[in-house]
Amino acid sequence: MPSQSDFNQPEESNFAPVLAHWYEHHKRDLPWRHTRDPYRIWLSEIILQQTRVAQGMPYYKRFVEAYPTVAHMAAADERDVLRLWQGLGYYSRARNLHQTAKLVVNEHAGLFPGTYHKLLTLKGIGTYTAAAIASFAFGERVAVVDGNVYRVLARVFGIEDDITTTSAKKRFAALASRLIAHADDPATFNQAIMEFGAIQCTPTSPDCLLCPLQQPCVAYQTGRQQVLPVKAKKAAVRERFFHYFVFRNGNRLALRERTNRDIWQNLYDFALVETDEPKTGFRQLELSEKLQKLVLYSTQTAAPTEATQLLSHQRIRATFYEFVVPDRLTDDLFDGLSWFSVDQVAALPKPLLIVNYLKTHLEK
Ligand code: SF4
Repeated sequence: MPSQSDFNQPEESNFAPVLAHWYEHHKRDLPWRHTRDPYRIWLSEIILQQTRVAQGMPYYKRFVEAYPTVAHMAAADERDVLRLWQGLGYYSRARNLHQTAKLVVNEHAGLFPGTYHKLLTLKGIGTYTAAAIASFAFGERVAVVDGNVYRVLARVFGIEDDITTTSAKKRFAALASRLIAHADDPATFNQAIMEFGAIQCTPTSPDCLLCPLQQPCVAYQTGRQQVLPVKAKKAAVRERFFHYFVFRNGNRLALRERTNRDIWQNLYDFALVETDEPKTGFRQLELSEKLQKLVLYSTQTAAPTEATQLLSHQRIRATFYEFVVPDRLTDDLFDGLSWFSVDQVAALPKPLLIVNYLKTHLEK
């Protein structure tokens, strides 16, 4: 098989025009491409991090409707922002979104700074998002570099550096900066390269046969589309075992806000005991004195049910134990648990695991 050195590096100056031409004919019509409002561009970028366009679209529309300006979002209750975000995962994104909105309103008079470097001074806005806002909203010539860009550039230019390393990140960023220098319109260049990675040069089945970059593409010429980009293996997925105690009293359920620095911060779930290993039944668990008392004097109403949720680096295996608490013990809640009516529970921000549990068990 020929090696990379058998091929000439593609001409950097040709890349942007070819890409722009491809984009003109293949771009999808997406709502955030019709605006130069930095707030809406920022919102779409945060939603689309770790999320596919089809999944993110309804969330974008909902957010724009609920919070049409950054001032509306800044004035919102964090709980409502999290509630609207529910189901998208990576909830720190929603919390940062809200924090940054407040920052823009309180420290920048409600206006996003108009340059890449000033945008970077905002907490919660990193290099990728700053480049996206600066180019899409303000037309600044600064290249976005995300997973799509790494993939496209690694393949076209045959770059074998591990994209998780700092040196590789610098190399890709420098290449992207040189490439965007040849673009007529920097915003189009950035949109185009991301779109190209999303629909043409996809991770597992790039459409090489109909690709306008096929001729200069090193990966195609050397049959290494599946090898590039090089990425070090992910850390192993951590298994966690959550044992939820679902306490009911009439129409009410006991939930608490997760306040510790862990997954699902500021979302609501039930009384929880966590173990590193699976257990068969709550009697195998070490319960606190207060939890033990509540369990002992309440009535278990259903067989335990199980559910799993896979997060980026964790697999949560949950078991739910359901109890009806007698009226005389309703003041004995502990560890931040409070009673919420079914309607109140519906309005609380919750992890998907809890949402799904309630969907199947609440109507019983
Ligand atoms: S030829 Fe294939 S691998 Fe190369 S840029 Fe096009 S789609 Fe990607």
